[in-house]
Amino acid sequence: VNSGKMSISFLHNKCFINGSWVDAKSGKTFEVNNPATGEVIGVAPDMDVEDARAAINAASDAFPAWAKTPAKERGVMLRKWYDLMVLNADEIAKILTWEAGKPLSESKGEITYGNSFIDWFAEEARRINGEVLQSPVRNREMILLKQPIGVAALITPWNFPHAMITRKAGAALAAGCTCVIRPAEDTPFTALALVDLADKAGIPKGVINIVTSGRPNAAPIGKELCENPLVAGLSFTGSTEVGKRLYKQCATGVKRVGLELGGNAPFVVFNSADINKAVDGAVASKFRNCGQTCISANRFIIQDGVFDEFVEKLRDRMSKFKIGNGMDSDVNQGPLINAAQVNKVESIVKDAVDKGAKVLHGGERASNIGQLFYVPTLLVDIKPNMACYTEEIFGPVAVCLKFKTEEEAVAISNGTSRGLAGYFYSNDLNQAWRVARNLEVGMIGINEGLISAAEAAFGGVKESGIGREGSSHGIEEFVYIKYLCFGGI
Ligand code: ADP
Repeated sequence: VNSGKMSISFLHNKCFINGSWVDAKSGKTFEVNNPATGEVIGVAPDMDVEDARAAINAASDAFPAWAKTPAKERGVMLRKWYDLMVLNADEIAKILTWEAGKPLSESKGEITYGNSFIDWFAEEARRINGEVLQSPVRNREMILLKQPIGVAALITPWNFPHAMITRKAGAALAAGCTCVIRPAEDTPFTALALVDLADKAGIPKGVINIVTSGRPNAAPIGKELCENPLVAGLSFTGSTEVGKRLYKQCATGVKRVGLELGGNAPFVVFNSADINKAVDGAVASKFRNCGQTCISANRFIIQDGVFDEFVEKLRDRMSKFKIGNGMDSDVNQGPLINAAQVNKVESIVKDAVDKGAKVLHGGERASNIGQLFYVPTLLVDIKPNMACYTEEIFGPVAVCLKFKTEEEAVAISNGTSRGLAGYFYSNDLNQAWRVARNLEVGMIGINEGLISAAEAAFGGVKESGIGREGSSHGIEEFVYIKYLCFGGI
């Protein structure tokens, strides 16, 4: 691993299967790039189906003992893992910024957030309780037990390389499941560092296994994780397209599935709103990780009375952004993750401009800074036939539409097959209730742009996914309910 002048421990270029650090059986590796500079950070094992099977077998062998380990003990180990991640947060943040490009302050924020899931689920482990029911007939007792489902496959994206793993693994391990993690090819090193710390925390061998690969092996490994009879369930975060494919593959064995897919978040600002707070929320929601989050505001839907003021204030804030290498402390806009992402953002902006959108800020690559940088962009005069209206942008492009009535705002917001997060700003209490009830999304920020927390239930409706992560509900993805009926008592 080429760490240059940086002193970074926990950088692993092997995978962790059955308690050992191993190479791909084929001996192949793939390169990981620093998106800010384009230089190769290092190589990781380019594993394939055979390696995935070894990981699944290890997880399956480890399952009975882990499932029988008292929840309190599992919780204690999770807590140790959390403590180690807190202790080493600065190191992990460096790795994260290095491979994902996000500003160091955001990487630290992600680690605090990601760690909080392990803290949370360390506690939740002890609260996975069953139920004793009221039998409708005499001489019977009826009981519901909660039991871990078995081996859980966890496939995660690059935009939150730490938190998307802990949000899944924390719940799975607390429930008594063992797991096989397949992190995104852009960001394997953060994942490997976390697994190292899990091992150091005393989590037994085979309980956490990790399989890295380049993009070509992602699909065959994914198929194996969905279809291998030893896997009980899949938890996936990523694109809707890949999620649908995995959902189909899981149908073969009727596997448990949890899917956190793409969004198309509306961010509505009503005339009664505090515009300065709305602009703060807009910046936080849209420009965190350069807009590469699934709950990023995708469409700003602004009432006619405050449209000009909102757009002007947002433009003013955007003009003060500092674009650059996330390792530099004053940078708040890093690179996009890879060339495919920059090309996509560029084509979405071009499509909008070709169809009549007006660019109030940005609208081009920041090629003077590096290959993968795009200038934060503000677009108005938006029409429904533009890709920026219908597609998830996943980049630093703010799209502003004007509306007149609340009904219109709700109709625009809901006019998409996605339903992950939504946001609105209003100081009218009755309107707040109405709109909160009527938005077709799984999560809503009301006068708030940053909504994620381990305590909250994260998830979507419509094509944005199935199931919930975080909160006490996150555990449910990893347990079966078993009904016991004691007769003849
Ligand atoms: P993104 O647009 O965020 O890259 P993807 O859905 O493409 O979203 O990727 C999310 C994760 O899914 C990544 O780890 C990626 O490698 C993995 N992935 C991509 N294609 C497949 C596939 N066919 N089967 C399983 N995993 C896949």
